[in-house]
Amino acid sequence: MKYISTRDKSKKYSAAEVIKMGLSNEGGLFVPETVPDISIDEIKNLVGKSYQDIAKAILVKFLTDYTEKEIEDCISLAYNNFTFNTPDVVPLKKLNDNLYVMELWHGPTAAFKDMALQIMPHLLSKAIKKVKTDKETVILVATSGDTGKAALEGYKDIEGIKIIVFYPEGGVSKVQELQMSTTDGNNTYVAAVKGNFDDCQTGVKEIFGNVEFNKLLNDNGYELSSANSINWGRLVPQIIYYFKAYTDLVKNGEIKLGDEINFCIPTGNFGNILAGFYAKLMGLPVKKFICASNINNILTNFFKTGVYDRNRAFVKTSSPSMDILISSNLERFLFEMTAHDDKKVNQWYKNLKETGRFEVDTFTKEKMSEIVDAGFADEIETGELIETVFNTYNYVVDTHTAVALKVAGDFKSVDKIVVDSTANPYKFSVDVLKALSDYSSDDEFRIVNELNKITGLEIHRAVKGLDKKEVKHKAVIKKEEMKDIIKDILKI
Ligand SMILES: *Cc1c(COP(=O)(O)O)cnc(C)c1O
Repeated sequence: MKYISTRDKSKKYSAAEVIKMGLSNEGGLFVPETVPDISIDEIKNLVGKSYQDIAKAILVKFLTDYTEKEIEDCISLAYNNFTFNTPDVVPLKKLNDNLYVMELWHGPTAAFKDMALQIMPHLLSKAIKKVKTDKETVILVATSGDTGKAALEGYKDIEGIKIIVFYPEGGVSKVQELQMSTTDGNNTYVAAVKGNFDDCQTGVKEIFGNVEFNKLLNDNGYELSSANSINWGRLVPQIIYYFKAYTDLVKNGEIKLGDEINFCIPTGNFGNILAGFYAKLMGLPVKKFICASNINNILTNFFKTGVYDRNRAFVKTSSPSMDILISSNLERFLFEMTAHDDKKVNQWYKNLKETGRFEVDTFTKEKMSEIVDAGFADEIETGELIETVFNTYNYVVDTHTAVALKVAGDFKSVDKIVVDSTANPYKFSVDVLKALSDYSSDDEFRIVNELNKITGLEIHRAVKGLDKKEVKHKAVIKKEEMKDIIKDILKI
């Protein structure tokens, strides 16, 4: 099976090539040329199977230039008793007869990014061998919190790869900062940048595009790569859990094989929801995807009006991983919605770049609305939802999941809804506790303990004891010094 770019579909690439390259040369995103089918009989065979078995059934269809053995190796390194502390990997909780929660946060860093970032480094490491490069790969990450730690955990001690993470000094929570600065491994590097997240991201983008600096790296035996969700290697593992949730519902007698269900997804970069959409394209019986946003509701407006307009204020919320104005993966969705019309997609993204806005045609808008519904929750609604869900179901959710549960509650459907839960509540303790109690403290670890006292929810191992771990990464740099620290690390 081959892959093509959303901005030029004439060239074809193998899976290993697209995982290695990340972004296409003309700036487009890679997608499968044709999405592989899964029959209802095949889905039936997956009912009751382990996460690892389902992962294999899905991945072999997309990664056709990997051997079965290679895929099995990647799966067992990524999803095991050590990385995920529950045999289910992704447990499904029933709240009521219509509403289920898929817990995607049992991995090492307590956020759903682990679902992809536990396996992607192994896929990349095999891709590097396949495309036969003689250079060592250096992964650069700019993070506002969750991605940085998940990438560090995924890439640590992977042979032939180094990872360098930049985060804004004072711009992440204490838990997130300590998660990153205490990372071990012999190939992990972390630097706090004096500036905000935009400064980190702009700095990393500038480095990726800097011809002279890349030549210097190449001459010294290094090559840059990215761990963002623009990389197909981060998307494909996310298709797996949509099948897991569906087959669990069949196994538990909640639905009959072939029944359609809905998924409601707290959305930022549109990666998670897009993976679900590919599951549907393959043949998973899904009626609607409900795209949930916080008050940065640019996507809600887009699905309602067909106009994507980023000329608006950026608001910081209690669900920071969804504070985003450009959802990169939407481009892949639009490419699919227009039956691979690369010219149209090019034009829309040119408009976005030049004017900050584009509008899709009526046909595309209607096609989108057959598949996606959208809604948002504001800060007050998010807090209230956390409280209501705790009082009603004795179940604690984080702020991102709360946004999706609120939007799911507004959605009228006779079909069952599965909500993607993207973070463990302890990862966002301050705002979760605020919704449940008047307790306040400047010390995040006291808040964690108080949340534990009130809810009885076990403290996730990604957070437990974090305040006692040794801080290994102490670099604080100016934003002009990002290239210098890379050179220091690589000794060039
Ligand atoms: C990254 C993230 C999201 C958004 O996921 P996308 O794939 O970017 O849409 C939602 N919630 C949490 C907790 C996240 O870390």
